Amino acid sequence: MSNDESLVHLLADLVAIPSMNPMGRDRSGAEYSEERLAAYVSDYLRRHSIDVNTSEVAPHRPNVIGYVDAGAKQTVLLEAHLDTVHADNMTIEPFSPKVLDGRLYGRGACDTKASLASFLHTVGTLAKNASTLKFNIVIAAVSDEEYGFTGARRAVENGLVGDFGIAGEPTQLRIVRAHKGVVRWRIITKGTAAHSAYPDRGDNAIYTMGHVLVRLQAYGSELMQGPRHAELGTPTLSVGVIEGGQAVNIVPDRCWIEIDRRTLPGETENEILQSAESVLQDVSKYEFEPPHISIGGIDVSPENPLLQRLAGVIEEINGECVIETAQYATNAGVYNQSGIPTIVFGPGNIAQAHTAAEYVEVDQVIRCCEILSRFLTT
Ligand SMILES: [Zn+2]
Repeated sequence: MSNDESLVHLLADLVAIPSMNPMGRDRSGAEYSEERLAAYVSDYLRRHSIDVNTSEVAPHRPNVIGYVDAGAKQTVLLEAHLDTVHADNMTIEPFSPKVLDGRLYGRGACDTKASLASFLHTVGTLAKNASTLKFNIVIAAVSDEEYGFTGARRAVENGLVGDFGIAGEPTQLRIVRAHKGVVRWRIITKGTAAHSAYPDRGDNAIYTMGHVLVRLQAYGSELMQGPRHAELGTPTLSVGVIEGGQAVNIVPDRCWIEIDRRTLPGETENEILQSAESVLQDVSKYEFEPPHISIGGIDVSPENPLLQRLAGVIEEINGECVIETAQYATNAGVYNQSGIPTIVFGPGNIAQAHTAAEYVEVDQVIRCCEILSRFLTT
């Protein structure tokens, strides 16, 4: 088998193992877990004589971390998530990967098993001859990116290190050096239930929420008038879900909303919650739940020497290198917060991620390996 053929084989193997994220819904079973894919990745790394450490983030949801010690001064982190979104409503076979007209189809082909395959193939090949490496390598395959970012967080808690990181996501082999972060949490208002014929005997939690909403709407507009990041724009706030009350003839004693707050690099979760609290000062009887999603933005300097090195190699191989910013949030936010300057880079187009006929251009996967191999060795 040629080098390229074994790479495509590897990607097909990864796509054929379902690793869907339950995404907070009531879904279980091996297909809704990263466990089988993690076992494959761990086995692949071991077969290529790479030291591997597996640890559970949650039951049946492991991280796999491999290390290649080249005796170098600096360490590069190559990271890709193991999970995909679900495969409901797909118009192709999600887990029977097929190559057609230079595209490999299947759930996760683009987001982000193409990156994972490129990283594994490159590191597997280079580890045989570690003396050619200019960097030590940490390769991390982590659980739960699509929902909670908990795998990346656990990897950092367990001591993940690096002087520069590449979070593998479909960027069409462009460098994404900055993106926003996101914090999501619920606000709950509580009241007292009563018969709706005697509303004065109760305390209406939906009315209280009304006051909260009016203030949050004004606060959201204010944020969009405030300080701007040159490329990412302003932070934003949106209330996306509301639920309250049990029946129309009962004064509601409880109401909740869910908030999506897009953050600029450098804004901390504490600051965000505090400023939201300060606009609600004169509203009583509300509570914040701790955020269920919280990930920082990234803003890696275009002058970062390893970013420039990567950009140089991309230019050699692709003829040009685009350095840009993105609107979506990634695990790179977690790594930047922990002090590893991490950009987002990988084969595939984000437009194909999560779609009903997800695919990746095989040529991009091959070129990703060429780029990484040259980046790590020359
Ligand atoms: Zn992804």
